[in-house]
Amino acid sequence: MRKKVIAGNWKMNKVMTEAEDFVREAGQQLPAGNNIDAIVCAPFPFLPELVKLAQNTRLKIAAQTMHYEENGAFTGEVSPLMLKNIGVSHVVIGHSERRQYYNETDDTVNKKAHAAFKHSLTPIVCVGETLEEREANDTKAVVETQVQKALAHLTHEQIAQTIIAYEPIWAIGTGKTASSADANEVCTHIRQVIAALTDSSTAEQVIIQYGGSVKPANIDELLAQSDIDGALVGGASLEVDSFLKLVEAGAK
Ligand code: PGA
Repeated sequence: MRKKVIAGNWKMNKVMTEAEDFVREAGQQLPAGNNIDAIVCAPFPFLPELVKLAQNTRLKIAAQTMHYEENGAFTGEVSPLMLKNIGVSHVVIGHSERRQYYNETDDTVNKKAHAAFKHSLTPIVCVGETLEEREANDTKAVVETQVQKALAHLTHEQIAQTIIAYEPIWAIGTGKTASSADANEVCTHIRQVIAALTDSSTAEQVIIQYGGSVKPANIDELLAQSDIDGALVGGASLEVDSFLKLVEAGAK
C-alpha cells in the first residue's frame, strides 16, 4: 500500500525565528508510524538550520525550487548539489507559480527531475491546468503532456520514486478546491499516463498528491479517494496546528 505524503509549501512566508519555532514544535508532535511522511518546503535561507532542527524527528525538509546545473555562472540560483550537501531530502519542481512568473517550462522541469535524482533528492513535480483549460475540457490532455514531458527519459525506478502533485491552478490560494471526485479523476488519469510510460506496477507505487486550497476541513475527503496519496498545501501549512491536523489525517 502507498504511504501518504503531506507537504507544506510555505512559499515566500515567515522569518527565520518563526520557521525555527514551527519546525521545533511540529517535529516533536508529529504522529508516529511509517505510513505517513510530513515535509516542510521552506525558503532557501532557512534550510540549513531547519534540516538540523528536524534531525531525529520524522519531519523532512524540502526546497521549493532549484537550478538543474550543479554549479556555474547562474547568479542568484541554488543547485541540487548545494541542497543535497546541507541535507535537504525533497525539492518541489515546476510549481505553477514558478511556471507563471519564472519561466519554468516542461523542459526545465524535466532537466530538474534528472538533476534531482542525480543528487538523490526526491522531486515533487507539480502539474495542473488553468481555469481556461478546465472550461475548455482540456484538463486531462494538459496534465498528460506535463506528466509525459516531466518524466521523459527517467528510469522506471526513478519514476516510481517521483512524487506528482496535481494542482489545478484555479484552486491554488483561491479557497476553491476541486471536488474530491474531480481531483481523483485527474489523479487516476495521471496514474494511467504513468502506467503507459512504464508499467502498472511502477505506476501503482507513485505517490500522487492533490494541491489547491487543501485544509483540515477537506483533507479527509480528499485522502479517501483511490488515487490521492497526500497533499501539497500552501496557506493551511503555515500554522503548526493546522499542519499537524493535515498530517494526522494522513496518518489515520
Ligand atoms: P494553497 O497552495 O494550499 O494555498 O492553495 C497550494 C500550493 O500552491 O501548493
